[in-house]
Amino acid sequence: MNKLIYILLFAFLSCKQAKVNGNSKVIVLQPLGNFQSIAAQEVLEKIKKINSNVVLRKSIDFPSGSYNKPRNRFRADSIIKYLKSEIGKDSVIVGLSNKDISTTKDNHQDWGVMGLGYHPGRACVVSDFRLSDKNKKEQFYKVVLHELGHTEGLSHCKTKTCLMRDAEGGNPIDQEKNFCKSCLNFLKSKKWNLK
Ligand SMILES: [Zn+2]
Ligand SMILES: [Zn+2]
Repeated sequence: MNKLIYILLFAFLSCKQAKVNGNSKVIVLQPLGNFQSIAAQEVLEKIKKINSNVVLRKSIDFPSGSYNKPRNRFRADSIIKYLKSEIGKDSVIVGLSNKDISTTKDNHQDWGVMGLGYHPGRACVVSDFRLSDKNKKEQFYKVVLHELGHTEGLSHCKTKTCLMRDAEGGNPIDQEKNFCKSCLNFLKSKKWNLK
């Protein structure tokens, strides 16, 4: 009899566990080109703290057709379109690039960006090309969080210290400290393990 209770209890606990995990998406980190594996590994370790469902894939080439030769840049919109097709329904994928990336913005045909993500959606890409040499790693991780925020459905935020601030063609990332309370609560509602 006792044994049966244990089995039932165990079954109940495993169901509960499965339900919790089922609510948080798998984050797939996808290095592009010759993105440094140490840098990718560091992003993996940081993401693990907010979502243990994260995997780092082996590097792949930039998708064919994404290269804009005259500007020596890769089109971020082509990259995320391709990346989206490379994952399952319950995942979100983050391309990691050390080449310059761009997209069309307003009347700028080819506007260089630090990152681009669907809003909402299941893919984004981040480049360290435009980040400050002095603290590239910290800035890079902040942009990863920013783009993942977009994929969850967050828009740009007016709070100057919030990670969802719009860069507006500059690099205000050092002024960004964290997600503001409102963005934070939104992400917590999406099962992000943030404090
Ligand atoms: Zn943005
Ligand atoms: Zn905010």
